[in-house]
Amino acid sequence: MKAVVYDAPREFSVRNVPTPEPRPHELRIHVTQTGLCRTDLHLHEGQFLAVYPMIPGHEVVGVVDRLGAEVDQFEIGEQVVINPNAYCGRCSFCREGRPLHCRYLQGLGTTLPGGFAEYEVAPATQVFSAAGLQPDTAVLTEPAACAMHGVRVLRPTPGSKALVIGAGSTGILLAQLVASAGAAHVTVAAPVDFQLRRAEALGVDATYQMDRDSLADDIEALLKLSDGEGYDIVIDATGIARVIEASVSLVRDGGTAVFYGVTDENDRVQVSPYEIFRRELTIRGSFAEIDTFSAALAALRSGRLRTDRLITHRFRLDEYADALATLRAGTSAHKIVITP
Ligand SMILES: [Zn+2]
Ligand SMILES: [Zn+2]
Repeated sequence: MKAVVYDAPREFSVRNVPTPEPRPHELRIHVTQTGLCRTDLHLHEGQFLAVYPMIPGHEVVGVVDRLGAEVDQFEIGEQVVINPNAYCGRCSFCREGRPLHCRYLQGLGTTLPGGFAEYEVAPATQVFSAAGLQPDTAVLTEPAACAMHGVRVLRPTPGSKALVIGAGSTGILLAQLVASAGAAHVTVAAPVDFQLRRAEALGVDATYQMDRDSLADDIEALLKLSDGEGYDIVIDATGIARVIEASVSLVRDGGTAVFYGVTDENDRVQVSPYEIFRRELTIRGSFAEIDTFSAALAALRSGRLRTDRLITHRFRLDEYADALATLRAGTSAHKIVITP
């Protein structure tokens, strides 16, 4: 089969590799399409748990192609999505019921072969039926599960005012879930006009076009939009260090800043401990997902979480370099998918 294979950071080729065979308790999925996201850019640079040789791709929708021994709950041809993350079940964190903090966390598309390929093998425990969902919706299940995890971590107070910085597909999914989890008002701030218009079309209450070159002006304007006091919840979905630094000053007294976007591992930001103390701020992280696929699928199926027209670009496997370049440029793309 054809796959995107990395041999080292920034060194990949699209080449033929043996088609994987499912072992007992596994199944093989014929990939329909796989979402590309900023995590893949970090993997390209050799960060974020990359193990070589690596086939990336962790946002997969496909159809069941072959069942390993002892797999009985799926049908050949059934549309499915794959939760890429697996925990060991034996470490201290797993035994405390905290699988996302597993010391031996594995990821299809990071530490194990993923979905920028014609076929992917996955344990049946990580495969979920997506029968009947549009493939363009199903391909967003993994980002939706990550956003669902973020909202579970955050637990918005009913009636709170929220700001999501970043209007990529992840920012838009987060904004919708924060609203349905109880926030009374959600603003999305980002620099790219067409992304903000998509956010409005999908139901966010307000948008603000950031400059990002003059963050001081952005902060002033966003504070004014919040009636001067700031936002109970500020979620950074950009992963840009200086935006994250600025985001803390937009949090209302007693509120919470969530660091959601993936930064560079070596990034550092400055926060004032006096401000954290005096204003009783909470800073929270939200990392990936592990047990929210069912919740994400439920929200996508009911239409509570909307994905209409979030996909803006489609590339073939052998156009992977173009797909990465389009994502890196950032101004024309929303969700990019790779179709083998
Ligand atoms: Zn992703
Ligand atoms: Zn573990």
